Amino acid sequence: MLTLERVWKSYKVGTFGGRELVAVRDVSFSVGPGEVVSLIGESGSGKSTIGRMVLRLNSISRGAINFQGRDVSRLRGNALREYYRQVQGVFQDPFSSYNPIFKADRVLAMVRDQFFPEVKPATWWERVDSTLASVRLDPAQVRNKYPHQLSGGQLQRMLIARALLLDIDLLVADEVISMLDASTRIDVLNLLADLKARGLGVLFVTHDLALGNYISTKTVILRKGVAVEMGDTGKVFANP
Ligand code: ADP
Ligand code: ADP
Repeated sequence: MLTLERVWKSYKVGTFGGRELVAVRDVSFSVGPGEVVSLIGESGSGKSTIGRMVLRLNSISRGAINFQGRDVSRLRGNALREYYRQVQGVFQDPFSSYNPIFKADRVLAMVRDQFFPEVKPATWWERVDSTLASVRLDPAQVRNKYPHQLSGGQLQRMLIARALLLDIDLLVADEVISMLDASTRIDVLNLLADLKARGLGVLFVTHDLALGNYISTKTVILRKGVAVEMGDTGKVFANP
């Protein structure tokens, strides 16, 4: 489904002939349907850069990212729009993905307006309520709320609900539980595990080895931009 082929990323840092910082070096791996691939490394190892390149938030310096056989860098117009119907990201800060002036209802209505205008409103709101319930949110409690009136865990679950409404194929989850309290963390983590069961692919970005081991089917270990280890999670974590 998603394939990275010898992907490099360098950032220009400093002004006037400043140097290049190579953040990702020659990284290749893939994420298939029903696969949770964890991308593990310490801070600065290039994890978020990879997530952002997949989400088209950063350009790629060398190599290619393909999604369902198409070169992600070349997507334009409707093809890019369709890509964002299929691929979504959730990040560390639950608030960062919300516009503070929109209530939850508005966000969910926009999904219909932008991607499913043919679905009748009554049908849409039934779909919304069952999707919210499936991520264990009470529709009556959250639909009429602004982001600041919801907890971090509720906001992350709302984003996952939004992704499910879009019927995405791939979720990029970048440190999504780092800012949540302990009781909510496990809820959101188990929700990501449910996505695997529904056949979605998940790219799970984390600095936490144990989390990666808990959730993923495949593991990629990054060190200074290099994929130093890669394989089935059971094998990567097995004692040598
Ligand atoms: P991680 O997610 O593993 O913490 P990042 O992908 O955020 O790593 O960063 C990898 C390297 O790239 C780091 O050295 C970081 O400072 C650098 N970097 C990240 N984003 C930028 C940017 N926009 N401009 C310049 N350097 C960046
Ligand atoms: P640079 O390429 O200068 O390091 P970035 O990686 O931040 O800069 O990308 C610059 C901008 O280009 C991003 O903010 C993004 O909106 C846009 N962009 C990212 N990927 C692509 C792509 N594949 N094709 C066209 N534009 C892209």
